[in-house]
Amino acid sequence: MIARIHGLEPRSRANGPGARFVVWMQGCTLGCPGCFNPGTHDATGGREVEISELAAQLAAAAADGKIEGLSLSGGEPLQQPAAALALLEAARALGLSTLAFSGYTIEEIRALPGGPGVLAQLDVLVDGRYVSGDRLATGLRGSANQRIQLLTPRYTLADVEATPIAEIRISPTGELVLTGVNPLKLKR
Ligand code: SF4
Repeated sequence: MIARIHGLEPRSRANGPGARFVVWMQGCTLGCPGCFNPGTHDATGGREVEISELAAQLAAAAADGKIEGLSLSGGEPLQQPAAALALLEAARALGLSTLAFSGYTIEEIRALPGGPGVLAQLDVLVDGRYVSGDRLATGLRGSANQRIQLLTPRYTLADVEATPIAEIRISPTGELVLTGVNPLKLKR
């Protein structure tokens, strides 16, 4: 099985509780005005990766004990539900926690093909469109309408809201990687 991804980060502290492996899925048709990541919209952009390859990278990151979970972001993970499900199942099989950011509400996801299956593999869902007029950019929520859905007892709301709003990482090739719910803070 193939996933089309925008990027990945083997160890981030700004995309959910603790240190997490993050996969940004490629493709989103929801069109939120002011979207912070428009480069993820084109469903033919990014690159294709075998799920087995991503799962192997995830297992390697988990084996050294430096991550506690997987976060899916985007782009829109629910527009690749089979790939999202496979990645979440791989994380759960490793004992990792799972979190996803989606522009769909949880009610919409329940009605999407493959949506309930994805929800069943998640500990935390951050749901809803980004509404620039209600910008929040803290506690993992980009805007005030978005909700943190605790789908299992694994985390508390305080755990999720304690996530730093931004981080800067330097890749092995020397590139700066800005991530988090408010990475623009680091550009000022
Ligand atoms: S759902 Fe997310 S990626 Fe898609 S347009 Fe809205 S903010 Fe951007």
